[in-house]
Amino acid sequence: MPARRTATCARRPPPWAVFTLGLLVSHSGLHAVEVSVDVGHTLAAHGATSARGAHEFDFNLVLARQLIGQLAERGLRVRPVNLDGLIESLVARPQQATGSDFFIAVHHDSVHADLLQEWDWDGTIQTYSDRYSGFSLFVSRDNPDLTTSLRCASAIGSRLRRAGFVPAMHHANPLAGIPRQPADASNAVYYYDKLVVLYRTTLPAVLFEAGVIKHRAEELALLDPENQWRMADAIATGIAACLYAR
Ligand SMILES: [Zn+2]
Repeated sequence: MPARRTATCARRPPPWAVFTLGLLVSHSGLHAVEVSVDVGHTLAAHGATSARGAHEFDFNLVLARQLIGQLAERGLRVRPVNLDGLIESLVARPQQATGSDFFIAVHHDSVHADLLQEWDWDGTIQTYSDRYSGFSLFVSRDNPDLTTSLRCASAIGSRLRRAGFVPAMHHANPLAGIPRQPADASNAVYYYDKLVVLYRTTLPAVLFEAGVIKHRAEELALLDPENQWRMADAIATGIAACLYAR
């Protein structure tokens, strides 16, 4: 697997940004907003395999750690879920988030098996597809707070686009796999009703797919520490904006 390191980036939110969020909380009398950040898949069942043979869980863990740091810098409380990759079930994920205000599952996407081609990477045969790429967000119509779920998904997608990330446009296409109904297509938000982490919960919830790790160029971009930092920055900004707008 490619080595991954945590970005040490000099860019930080200005002190007034964190201070302003703190004032909003204290003046409204609300508790500090808490976000549960769930690392998708486990060490034993690692999810998708990238074009270069790396495990999705490892991508998810790096980005989730970045996101946890970015949320904390904005004055939000954070509850990590499955940082050790040992969680026992899908249902346990939303259960561990109970009491938070928002749940986000961090994932990286693959493509339908029919699209895969073989190539030789570093002496091993791997599979890839350069057909589809981009980030996407999923919400469930069975979630008890669909309104907030949708608002946060759109806010995250909008901030990512503003930061230069490209939204996936293929999820409604039957040729790309099971077609998903768009909820906010311009921001790559789609309905995925029967995802356990999105509907077996009392919280507004979003599943985030950072990009397609079967796409050879996008895999490299997703491994870039500066890119990871910018992506986490945009996600955290979107979450803070949508939760404080309630
Ligand atoms: Zn996944």
